[in-house]
Amino acid sequence: MPTLKFAVLAGDYIGPEVMSEALRVLEHAAGLHGLTLQATYADVGGAGIDNHGKALPESTLRICEASDAILFGSVGGPKWEKLPPKEQPERAALLPLRKHFTLFANIRPGLLYPELTAASPIKTDRIPDGIDIVCIRELTGGLYFGKPKETTPLPDGDVQAVDTMIYRKSEIERITATAIAAARSRKKILCSVDKANVLETSVLWRRTVTDYVARHAPDLQLSHMYVDNAAMQLVRNPNQFDVFVTENMFGDILSDEMAVICGSLGMLSSASLGAGKNALGLPFGLYEPAGGTAPDIAGKGIANPCAQILSAALMLRYSFGLEEPAARIEAAVRKAVTSGARTGDIAFGGPSVGTRAMADAVISAL
Ligand code: NAD
Repeated sequence: MPTLKFAVLAGDYIGPEVMSEALRVLEHAAGLHGLTLQATYADVGGAGIDNHGKALPESTLRICEASDAILFGSVGGPKWEKLPPKEQPERAALLPLRKHFTLFANIRPGLLYPELTAASPIKTDRIPDGIDIVCIRELTGGLYFGKPKETTPLPDGDVQAVDTMIYRKSEIERITATAIAAARSRKKILCSVDKANVLETSVLWRRTVTDYVARHAPDLQLSHMYVDNAAMQLVRNPNQFDVFVTENMFGDILSDEMAVICGSLGMLSSASLGAGKNALGLPFGLYEPAGGTAPDIAGKGIANPCAQILSAALMLRYSFGLEEPAARIEAAVRKAVTSGARTGDIAFGGPSVGTRAMADAVISAL
């Protein structure tokens, strides 16, 4: 019986609430497919600070290293907001995890079921079939990590700050390879988003993506778009994209825009795949909901667990190569929602269920 060895980092506020439901769904799916779960729990974020004095305790890192994937909740919240920025849960836990495991490829499905189009701020007649697109964001390069990165007082009394946007061809090639795989699993349509009319890094980006796709994936239909236009097109007609790939900062902004047009953060999952392979020879990855810790609804048992459940499905797909149970969980979430089980964020004022009942509906649909 295959054993799935993964670390569970539930985090803070609604993190543990939605995580426990995702694990119940995962247990059920595992039972149906003859899989054994070996989940190891560890503190991260505010829980790491409270229990170990650090957002990413050494013991947590060791547990992650000994696992084939990380199922992550979300971290942070008002309790730790007064800490210095460098010690804040998100910055001191997520960024080091991304760096430590070279999690360079962020895959974010932008999925809105046709039954939930009312949740989108886009006019429903523009998205009669909902939204179904994928954003691939480069996660370990570009402006967020480039050096120099500093603030300097100047002799004339002024102050200057600098961030550096930097990309290597090899970094662009590896994220392009991820985008190619995603596009091939869908409609074979890929759009690369850049700012090649202004930025040197974008000129290299565009040339590298073009060459790499020509050499490795001539079967794909590749197009390019400037990022400012992409931001507009996402709102005008999101489904003109199928898979789009972009650098770190552009992806940060566009993926959040995509999350908004897809209605609720409670429905959106994400995968961050590493450069390294796990013990199964598959990408090591970190899987987490797109949203944060939602302190405004924490402790009430009303958070939507679907994003966490769908993140667990992505973990099965990418880090364990288990497409069938992954697709089965995704179909069960869809069936549960479309047959009327809705948490408050997707109920549009109609009857709503709590976190546990939502997961129960997914389990029944499984
Ligand atoms: P948030 O995503 O936590 O919440 C934004 C809104 O979406 C809230 O109204 C919230 O109730 C709602 N929401 C989010 N997830 C939901 C769910 N599963 N079900 C129902 N509603 C949901 O963003 P925020 O309020 O800006 O941030 C709160 C905390 O989360 C902050 O400390 C922030 O730093 C942290 N955060 C962490 C991560 C992460 O760990 N990856 C990501 C984003 C924000």
